[in-house]
Amino acid sequence: MGSSRLRRLGPHLSWAKPTLPHPAARPTALAVFGLLAVLALPLPPPVPVEAQPSTVAVLPTTPPAGNPALAAPGTAPKTTTPPKPTTRPVTRSRPPEQLTGYIWPIPNARVTTWYAPTRGGFLHVDGKRVHGGIDLATFCGDSVLAAHDGTVIYSGRRFDPHVGYIQPPDAFYALLAEKKVADTALAIVVVVDDGNGYRSLYVHLSKSHVKAGDKVTAGQVIGREGATGNASGCHLHYELIRMDGPYQAVAPQLTDKWRYPPLVRERVDPMRVLSLAQPGAGRKVPGIPPPVVSPGFGVIDLYHPVTGADRATNQER
Ligand SMILES: [Zn+2]
Repeated sequence: MGSSRLRRLGPHLSWAKPTLPHPAARPTALAVFGLLAVLALPLPPPVPVEAQPSTVAVLPTTPPAGNPALAAPGTAPKTTTPPKPTTRPVTRSRPPEQLTGYIWPIPNARVTTWYAPTRGGFLHVDGKRVHGGIDLATFCGDSVLAAHDGTVIYSGRRFDPHVGYIQPPDAFYALLAEKKVADTALAIVVVVDDGNGYRSLYVHLSKSHVKAGDKVTAGQVIGREGATGNASGCHLHYELIRMDGPYQAVAPQLTDKWRYPPLVRERVDPMRVLSLAQPGAGRKVPGIPPPVVSPGFGVIDLYHPVTGADRATNQER
């Protein structure tokens, strides 16, 4: 193909909206996996998991004796039994449904993975591995917007100490060092605290435009969509953490293999805060419907009531 032909095609192609599936929209390629996504490493093979009671655990003030969370840093828990939940309530933040001022961090993106059971999910909820956020796909380099007002807590590739593990993730980083995994293999991540008990994670960025301490407002460009870390294509993994919420179990396959701490603060289904009726709402990808009920949350209606028109619009897009 001659260069003049390429020049003609170039601008055209850059405008063309992709027809499905976007490279990052294939469900198999995109079962991308919570914080495991930070690793440029192969996914673990599927491991059968036994049915477990709900693993949405509430933090005990003093973890019970024998809790693997008490293991000294550097000593990886070697169990496939998820930590037992406890019943003591500690949450003081408002329920996610009461948060206001949140927007979709990439407007009109395809939602290629929901907060739902997935083979490589980072969390372990009700006996299943669950993807702890939503994946939003458009084009590489598109703007990533702050989903809410807040303060940047962290920007870079070593975000794990800022995302609510029950103990410092030292063993995980020691393992990376052992395996000689370079920092450049890790995802670029921005963590923004909303001041109300919640933090947002923006994962796989190609570039961050903010630094720790920056104040941001909803809609402000904080970075660019990319595929850093373990990503099969450009997309944003958006995760919402309730920092005073109950602890959830990390998938035991991951604590065993990658030495993640066994418990992490509640990952809230972003659809408990965002709505498909909002401007810029994500598009449903045919064949990847959102779950009716968010894993671990019983019968709560997560998908705020939408009008018939909204529903039609969403189906059309
Ligand atoms: Zn993801």
